[in-house]
Amino acid sequence: MLWNDDIREIKGIGDKTATYYRRIGINTVGDLVMHIPRAYDEYGEIIPISNVREGDTVIISGRITARPQARKVRNISIISAKMTDDSRGIITLVWFNMPFMANQLRMGTYYIIRGKVSRNNGRLEIVQPKLLTKTEYFNKKHKLMPIYKLTEGLSNNAVSKASAYALSELRSKKDYIPSDIIKRLGLMPYMQAIKSVHYPKNKDDMLKARKRLVFDEFFSFLLMLKKVNGERTGLRTGRTYEIPKESEQFIASLPYELTGAQKKVINEIENDMISGYAMNRLVQGDVGSGKTVIAAVALLINAKNGYQGALMAPTEVLARQHYESISEMFAPYGIRVTLLTGHMSAAEKRNAYELISSHKTDIIIGTHALIQDKVVYDNLGLVITDEQHRFGVKQRESIANKGEACHVMVMSATPIPRTLSMIIYGDMDISVIDEVPAVRLPIMNCVVGGNYRKTAYSFIQKEISKGNSAYIVCPMIEENENSDLENVYDYYLRLSEIMPKEVRIDILHGKMKNDEKNAVMDRFYNGSTDILISTTVIEVGINSPRATVMLIENSERFGLAQLHQLRGRVGRSDKQSYCIFMTADESPDIMKRLNILNNSNDGFYIASEDLKLRGPGDMFGVRQSGEVLFELADIYNDADMLQLASDTVNELSEKEAELILNEISKKIPLPTL
Ligand code: ADP
Ligand code: MG
Repeated sequence: MLWNDDIREIKGIGDKTATYYRRIGINTVGDLVMHIPRAYDEYGEIIPISNVREGDTVIISGRITARPQARKVRNISIISAKMTDDSRGIITLVWFNMPFMANQLRMGTYYIIRGKVSRNNGRLEIVQPKLLTKTEYFNKKHKLMPIYKLTEGLSNNAVSKASAYALSELRSKKDYIPSDIIKRLGLMPYMQAIKSVHYPKNKDDMLKARKRLVFDEFFSFLLMLKKVNGERTGLRTGRTYEIPKESEQFIASLPYELTGAQKKVINEIENDMISGYAMNRLVQGDVGSGKTVIAAVALLINAKNGYQGALMAPTEVLARQHYESISEMFAPYGIRVTLLTGHMSAAEKRNAYELISSHKTDIIIGTHALIQDKVVYDNLGLVITDEQHRFGVKQRESIANKGEACHVMVMSATPIPRTLSMIIYGDMDISVIDEVPAVRLPIMNCVVGGNYRKTAYSFIQKEISKGNSAYIVCPMIEENENSDLENVYDYYLRLSEIMPKEVRIDILHGKMKNDEKNAVMDRFYNGSTDILISTTVIEVGINSPRATVMLIENSERFGLAQLHQLRGRVGRSDKQSYCIFMTADESPDIMKRLNILNNSNDGFYIASEDLKLRGPGDMFGVRQSGEVLFELADIYNDADMLQLASDTVNELSEKEAELILNEISKKIPLPTL
């Protein structure tokens, strides 16, 4: 079996199942084995029933004390039984829609069961517990079993089986990194790492395998970056630029005074643009430091010199917001702005392509639709990516290639510690906006448990009565049996009951149709919505100065950097803003982590504290950084591997690098969005 074979070559995968796999981007056998488990399940020791705690997933062994009860609610059959053991603890077992359990369970017999403990009417119970035979339990005990990202129609069991089959049948691939390097660095060989990451012998084996794959992600990324940057340094634009008088006028017309840091960065950009050499600059500034206006000045200068400019944002919502605010800002200057996103209709897109190629527009704002082959720019002089950390390096290369030797500027709010940004953005010039507008009052924060929710709601109501609005963030879109995390839909229903009728509540999430999303955002901007219940789709870039409260449910589930980004959606005006971090888990570790946010609004400080607290190697934790450049790697948790990969790349001769890069592009999927 070969890497590029269609997944239907795998035993048990037919046309129908293949469509489910395609939905999560798995088309070939190679894709399947590169579908790395997101976590592992482990069958631990049997614990006494008297020790089980709500929320834990446990394995217990005991006997059924009384005849199982069968009842029906509407059409659903419910079987319940009580189990006890030598510890004299009692727990209720509940099965839905499995009426045969009533006959299968024998009173007085010992069973081993596994499941998640919940509380119902004060009593501990396990819903849908799994019955295990002794052999089953002892075979699986302490083995790490892969848990995969799934989609409807695919069970974890099915994916496990398919990947086990693929791994046994797949022809081995030669390591693309020379074996002397692999040996010297003490890394696991490639094929072994892929096998072990799915079916590790033990935890140590899994961590080693993962390390190797993380190394590969960093290594190929950095190697490619070096090539891209190497090709760009010292590149002459072949275009002359002058700073037009409109740029002064534009700055003077802003409703605020630019901060010193903004002026400094604009100055650096102007110098780049008139230098005759292609700009290659990272503009890094915390959320709310005012990066958009800097991009606007650069686009204005570029347009007034007769060149096209492109601004790329990672989400449709943000692209449209930029489009609207920049169109408005530039209307007085006769600069034409066009929107281009993947979700526009075919006719709209065709129209945009036409405007672009015939230079009937000066500035194009959009998502990664901007870099498709169909888009032909006319004299592209400047390319800006906003929220750069949300894109893969591939996209950056392609857009820069759209206009040979054009100016490239990337903006990022991700508070990456300096040492890390030196590695990731190695050869770029870096501008830091180290100042937030003085009119801002620092956001007031609190970290609270669920019993504070009522107080939070009345606080939100008070803010709404002053004409302000609020965001509430939930981690999930809809209800999910396997999760007790807050979800947007149920939350909406609940909150609608609690809040007075006149409070206008709306919802937003990534699976909504684009038109709906736009309408929701418009209503929120113009003040027709008071509370927006949303998933993290609002995380990047969104600017609605009217919002003064952010309530984040299940804060314990998010990484600190991500929480900081979310919080950045408020505190965008001269009004006092508030952020309430609600947590369903008040254990000391979680509280310690969340308190870092409570005590600071400084993204760089937060990132460095977060790094200290976690250290590398915590792979079971939530994905902390919000970085999506890498599938598996996390720039914070895997900082040691990043450093190692960086050192290794720097030691390669040009020829070695070229050879490896060739091998990589044949074999390893390069990191993409
Ligand atoms: P970010 O750096 O997070 O992208 P934005 O560019 O979205 O920040 O700016 C956030 C808000 O701050 C916007 O409403 C913008 O108009 C405003 N703003 C930007 N610069 C200043 C300034 N110097 N003084 C006051 N407000 C500013
Ligand atoms: Mg922004």
